[in-house]
Amino acid sequence: MPSVDSITAELQSLDRQYQIHPFTNHSDMHGTGTHIVQRGDGCYFIDETGTPILDGLAGLWCVNVGYNCREIVEAVTAQMTQLPYYPSFFNSTTEAPIRVAEFLAKHAPARLNHTIFSNSGSEANETALKVIRGYWKLKGQSQRRKILCRTYAYHGVTLATTSLTGLVNCQEPFDLPLEGFVRIPGPYHYGARSELTPEDYGRWCLEETRRIILAEGPETIAALFAEPIQGAGGVIIPPKGYLSGLREICREFGILYVSDEVITAFGRIGAWYASEMWELDPDIICVAKGITSGYLPLGGTMVSDEIAEPLLKGGYFAHGFTYSGHPSCCAAALANLRYIEDHGLVTKVKDDLGPYFEAKLANLAAHPAVSEVRGMGLIGAAELVPKGGRDALTPTSLLGAKASNLVRAEGAMVRGIRDLIAISPPLVISREQIDSLFASVERGLDKLWD
Ligand code: PMP
Repeated sequence: MPSVDSITAELQSLDRQYQIHPFTNHSDMHGTGTHIVQRGDGCYFIDETGTPILDGLAGLWCVNVGYNCREIVEAVTAQMTQLPYYPSFFNSTTEAPIRVAEFLAKHAPARLNHTIFSNSGSEANETALKVIRGYWKLKGQSQRRKILCRTYAYHGVTLATTSLTGLVNCQEPFDLPLEGFVRIPGPYHYGARSELTPEDYGRWCLEETRRIILAEGPETIAALFAEPIQGAGGVIIPPKGYLSGLREICREFGILYVSDEVITAFGRIGAWYASEMWELDPDIICVAKGITSGYLPLGGTMVSDEIAEPLLKGGYFAHGFTYSGHPSCCAAALANLRYIEDHGLVTKVKDDLGPYFEAKLANLAAHPAVSEVRGMGLIGAAELVPKGGRDALTPTSLLGAKASNLVRAEGAMVRGIRDLIAISPPLVISREQIDSLFASVERGLDKLWD
């Protein structure tokens, strides 16, 4: 039998030859060798060396119920055996998407009673963009075309959702954004190096938003997209009063409010939806990731009754994917959502694990390499500084990637972004595992500091 090492070497070589990875520096990866992850077990994944690594990122902010949820596997197996796939075209559908749409509506903020299914967060946002165009056209206001979006936002990888995204490194290689995407400041107080308090900085962002809307012409603006907590942009927690202020501005100018909850929905911050926690009453919520805990791909665009009504009466709805409402993916979602509900995971994050995680994160602020921590529920970030202090940071400094490699060597996975690390473990993590996660982070940061 070939040894594990020789199989790994073969896979790494084939990977180098045949696969292009998402968001990856291939020369770096090929230099060190691609990790070939073998198995999952609860909150751990096991890599090619057989080492269990505590997954402080839940895959990619999504494996909320951990890696071996029997209920999801059984539900998908049953669905695949009975009917692996049938489209929701031709005046047809299957049971699973109906049940998931009902579940989503029952747990969502009032008004959001209709879901359009897709396969990813990008497609959920792309669908929202098209629905918004269609909606304003049906309302006789086709001049409302522009979309407001924020710096440090992340909304996906299609041409339009990369245009929504407010990260230069995602846009610059593709000459994006497209026309019609209007940038407003996101509330990244630390990144702005602002002298203001976070709350005052949030107020400044709102004043700027209002100024930009008036300059563009409010009657030309269709919608605003906002993640309640900006995730991939660096886990940016909105300062007090900011999100409600943003919502209020949209209401004042008749601009639709889209809450991108691809990371925040389904319990991560101790609520089914972050929009409910901040009482945002959005017109649209976009979901993906945690809807299936990543077991199968699924996205959803949940729209309000007001938006659904003209669409439902407006004749032929000319949008949808081959796999919209895929029964096997929806079976995974239903089993996952029921698991979250039956095990009280949302309340557990709110009352127990979230506060515990936040306290551990607050302790991390004492580490010499850490200059700020931010967190809420089971999502957090630590901004890192080199020994020379913040002024020694260079624009190309990537302390986050260095730190995440060092933390991984200490047995836990976190994500490096710019000069920070982001943490978002599965919702089934225990207090002891949270201790162990932060111990690995501290050891990794000790090495970074050395
Ligand atoms: N929106 C948000 C807030 C996200 O975090 C992501 C993915 N990180 C997306 C959209 C895009 O989702 P996907 O990668 O499934 O297309």
